[in-house]
Amino acid sequence: MPSYQNILCAIDLDANSAKILEAAIAQAGGQLKRIHVIHTCEHPITGYGELTGSNLPTTEAQIKQKAYPEFRSILEKHQIPVSQGEILFGQPSEAINTKASELSCDLIVVGSHGRSGLQLLLGSTSNSVLKDSPCDVLTIRLEE
Ligand code: AMP
Repeated sequence: MPSYQNILCAIDLDANSAKILEAAIAQAGGQLKRIHVIHTCEHPITGYGELTGSNLPTTEAQIKQKAYPEFRSILEKHQIPVSQGEILFGQPSEAINTKASELSCDLIVVGSHGRSGLQLLLGSTSNSVLKDSPCDVLTIRLEE
């Protein structure tokens, strides 16, 4: 089976991120330049600044700065150039599908916690990605 050419890998920076990246690297046939990695952060609740827009950019920058060292370290551990990674804001599944479309990806790799019952009803990122994905989706089963 031919390997994928343009892969978007979404990580939430927890201990499972390595497993997701390793799956993406395998699907790329080891060609790291085919892999893009994103992490999304939630928009801050910024009080008056939210209304005026005055403090939102600063707060976003602070949130990005906080996530960046861990994000960078995960990429470096897998020899993926930092230029192929991006920290975004927004709801994870929307951001993942939008970015996959923008980059014309042919595969998205996300983790899945294999939830059942009420947790499943509440929804998961992987299910939401699958519903609207512009390309194939590989879900990697994760430990809780
Ligand atoms: P969940 O089932 O919602 O816990 O998420 C499962 C998978 O969705 C994670 O392993 C990631 O691949 C992806 N994901 C969840 N949250 C984020 C996030 N904030 N940024 C990027 N990917 C995420």
